[in-house]
Amino acid sequence: MNIYGIKREDLEQYFLDMGEKKFKALQVFEWLYTHKVSSFFEMTNIKKDIQEKLAGDFSFDMITIQRKQEDKLTKKYLFKLFDGNFVEAVLMEHDYGTSICVSSEVGCNMGCAFCESGRLKKVRDLGAYEMVQQILLVEQDIKKRISSVVIMGIGEPLDNYENVMNFIKVINDPKGIAIGARHITLSTCGIIPKIKDLSEENLQINLALSLHAPNSELRDKIMPINKAYKLPVLMDTIKEYIDKTNRRVTIEYVMLQGVNDQEEHAIELAQLLRGLNVYVNLIPYNETNHIEFKRTSKEQIMKFYDVLKKKGINVTIRKEFGGKIDAACGQLRSKEVKA
Ligand code: SAH
Repeated sequence: MNIYGIKREDLEQYFLDMGEKKFKALQVFEWLYTHKVSSFFEMTNIKKDIQEKLAGDFSFDMITIQRKQEDKLTKKYLFKLFDGNFVEAVLMEHDYGTSICVSSEVGCNMGCAFCESGRLKKVRDLGAYEMVQQILLVEQDIKKRISSVVIMGIGEPLDNYENVMNFIKVINDPKGIAIGARHITLSTCGIIPKIKDLSEENLQINLALSLHAPNSELRDKIMPINKAYKLPVLMDTIKEYIDKTNRRVTIEYVMLQGVNDQEEHAIELAQLLRGLNVYVNLIPYNETNHIEFKRTSKEQIMKFYDVLKKKGINVTIRKEFGGKIDAACGQLRSKEVKA
């Protein structure tokens, strides 16, 4: 087990099982995440025999930064994992702070028609520690704290549920990386049973739903997941999620020219979302090798925006980052890896 994938609760249980006090877990967390030591033997307030036991049970192995590319406000990191696989993360500088977009799987099986990341099928889940380390390594590289995290890189986080939950608990822990739940966003293509599970977690994180179509027929064409989890049931699930968690949900809507960006789609989307505590984030499409999809013009995005606004839907247009360094949404796919 890698120590960075363990949430404090589990480490407390580990100490209790050993007949030790559970606050030892808090001490270990302080060494890991405040003092940032890289060995149990540097944890000077932990007894030698316990240090040895810890060193036998947990590893400190770190993933490594293989390559970094940057433009003015964006840095893209390529990480090498122990088994030779690669994943990416993207750091963005906003006026309100620094955010990072992390990957949750090596590849992705969701197969969204327009998404480049999904061309590489899922090889495996990422362990919680591999997600935690993406953040630790980037913070170390930029020498400052990251203020928000979006789980929107490669992979479908709800397809790797347990590891993603452990990851969230470590980064959200005030003695861990201490990123407030309201600064953590999980984005999903809509795996209904897992959205239900998530509503039971009692976490104050943000949920974003990649909707991308105002009706099931169109969604079927661009997102295979809709075949398993139909849009009407998905929207009922989102409503239940909102009722249960009292949290506003973000609806992501990537604008594909001539596919889902017409006025009639905006009207239908407004109807679909009426009365729900959501806000819509219109995403300019980043053109990829999927040549059949083109980006919607700025003017058409504005028209779409206006229709939603007039109908009383909260809506914003996503600011673009990272296009020049292949770090834009849906482009995270390492060039080291052949599809
Ligand atoms: N699997 C999760 C998270 C990863 S994708 C999900 O589906 O939400 C993150 C977001 O980027 C999703 O909304 C996805 O649909 C969107 N996206 C994928 N390819 C894109 C592209 N080329 N341009 C803009 N957004 C894209």
